[in-house]
Amino acid sequence: MARLDGRPEIFHSIQGEGKSIGVPSVFVRTSLCNLHCIWCDTDYTWNWVGTRFPHVHDALPGYRKFQKKEWIAECDIETIAEEVAGFPCKNVILTGGEPMLQQSALLRLMELLRSKSTDYRFEIETNGTLVPSVDFDASIDQYNVSPKLENSNNPRKLREKPAAYRFFSQSPKANFKFVLAAENDLREVLQLLDTYHIPADKIWLMPEATQRETLQEKRQWLVEICKKYGFRYSDRLHVQIWGSKKGV
Ligand code: SF4
Repeated sequence: MARLDGRPEIFHSIQGEGKSIGVPSVFVRTSLCNLHCIWCDTDYTWNWVGTRFPHVHDALPGYRKFQKKEWIAECDIETIAEEVAGFPCKNVILTGGEPMLQQSALLRLMELLRSKSTDYRFEIETNGTLVPSVDFDASIDQYNVSPKLENSNNPRKLREKPAAYRFFSQSPKANFKFVLAAENDLREVLQLLDTYHIPADKIWLMPEATQRETLQEKRQWLVEICKKYGFRYSDRLHVQIWGSKKGV
């Protein structure tokens, strides 16, 4: 689990982006990621001291890579389930980092919560590089897949995994959310849709922005692109409401 303010990062909020935008949800944030996006806003789940991954915040005064042992909380599934069950909310979002690195633990968490109430519904936020196991897939209600583009600074062979992309493009539970930093990113999105046969109505486009000002600047051109291609537009409510604050 990701550790924030000395505790495992589990919190009750609203989904800030994508298909379920605005839906009250309990977020369970796992630590560790198999990618290293240069603009990642949850870099405290992977950008450890001693690694050489660049980040856009490197130049900011006071920005430091994170001490791994201070930012990971090892906890048992029963404790996490108890904490999640304490919130008056049955939509649970498994997020990260890359939560699909921990499928077996998350599967046990889902089973435990469903043994408490069959009303639980599980979404997972993934970078789309890992294929789920059959059992894990059966437990998930919704995949929010966010494939990473060249603007993430991850090499293509790491960020584009054909078997995983094919799985999600065919899954009725999956939607795709692309983060666009500039108009050039659109060419890459269109290529991926063509290669993996992803229909336009499964696509959400979202501006790359961790600050309100940047979000505002990028909204209008992205909306025009969505109108032209029949994609959905996603804002970033959490940036709009809380700025870059963590754990909200
Ligand atoms: S895949 Fe997600 S969690 Fe991982 S580095 Fe990229 S933005 Fe961050």
